[in-house]
Amino acid sequence: MTHQKSFARRFFGSLVQWVDSDYSADSPESIWAQPDGVNLVRCIPFAILHLGCLGVIWTGGSWFAAAVAAALYFVRMFAVTGIYHRYFSHKSYSTSRFGQFLLALFGATCVQRGALWWAYRHRHHHQHSDEPEDAHSPHVHGFWWSHIGWITSRRNFPTDYSKIRDLAKYPELVFLNRFDILVPVVFAAGLFFMGHFLAEAAPTLHTSGAQMLIWGFFVSTTALFHGTSCINSLAHLMGGRRFDTEDDSRNSFILSLITLGEGWHNNHHRYMSATRQGFYWWEIDVTYYLLKALSWTGFIWELKGVPPSIYREAELRNHQDTVARFSMSSVQDEINTLKRVVPTAAAIAMATVNSPALATQMRKAEGPATHKNMSELMIDDQTGAARPGLKS
Ligand SMILES: [Zn+2]
Ligand SMILES: [Zn+2]
Repeated sequence: MTHQKSFARRFFGSLVQWVDSDYSADSPESIWAQPDGVNLVRCIPFAILHLGCLGVIWTGGSWFAAAVAAALYFVRMFAVTGIYHRYFSHKSYSTSRFGQFLLALFGATCVQRGALWWAYRHRHHHQHSDEPEDAHSPHVHGFWWSHIGWITSRRNFPTDYSKIRDLAKYPELVFLNRFDILVPVVFAAGLFFMGHFLAEAAPTLHTSGAQMLIWGFFVSTTALFHGTSCINSLAHLMGGRRFDTEDDSRNSFILSLITLGEGWHNNHHRYMSATRQGFYWWEIDVTYYLLKALSWTGFIWELKGVPPSIYREAELRNHQDTVARFSMSSVQDEINTLKRVVPTAAAIAMATVNSPALATQMRKAEGPATHKNMSELMIDDQTGAARPGLKS
């Protein structure tokens, strides 16, 4: 009976959380202490977001609907990266209190919950990147959990306001975070009414209220979620590593295109306070260009740059990589040549590289150096005949 009561309490608690995300049937501390587990009831709105994409079967498509979905993807990707990430999570630039509220409103249209929850989870990621505590590390929890699973887990739903005191002191931000469904509902309704209006006012667009709702809200928002999630999953798996950070963050040009600059994730993990994540002109970072343009209007200011020490570290790493690649390729070329000449010579070369003591013994046993007449020993791979003229 007690078990049934507790189940009912949690079930209805999850329903209330659809509207009031700070409501909790249990204390947040006890929820954070629980092991990971999918909260099915709490996730129903998230599932509806995905299932809503199937609405295209009934509404059909139009070039206008597809263009609106794509435009809203990129405009709101800017909100995720430029606002939720680079402002609320890292405070990489400044704005006024009213400006901050407008940014939070704009960010809320992305349907990735409130700015405070997002910043809290993201700061936690930086503190524990690719460690067991990291809620979305593909190395700890696997690809699918890092991409989508973690967001469904009961313990990851509540916001720990004590970890984001610099943001939690603003009641207007806490309000938007607590009722994080409010802005998305208004946004979805706005799209529906816009489509409804356009169906009458501009019939050549061949759109409707339902079509705008499905394409502009469901399709675009689902794509936006997965585009953003690629940074949690793929940006710790795919691409190169300029900086030797303690996590496994990577730089990826492709991810930077679909996330407007967030793909330079290894740069970002090395120096997270900078407004820009593409550290060089060739590292395309559209979010940074837009923020820079916004700073010229006076709406935001004090964009933080990348310190010279970080550039020096990058140059040093680049130099070390070049030297390593160069020496690896010359060693490899030499070993390949030796393999063609005398198979055992390659083994001797490897032993020489790997064991200085063994090499000393071998040199003693061999007597004086014997490499000077190597060209005489070169054997053709095909014929077995001696091949003069090859360089050793
Ligand atoms: Zn990361
Ligand atoms: Zn970050």
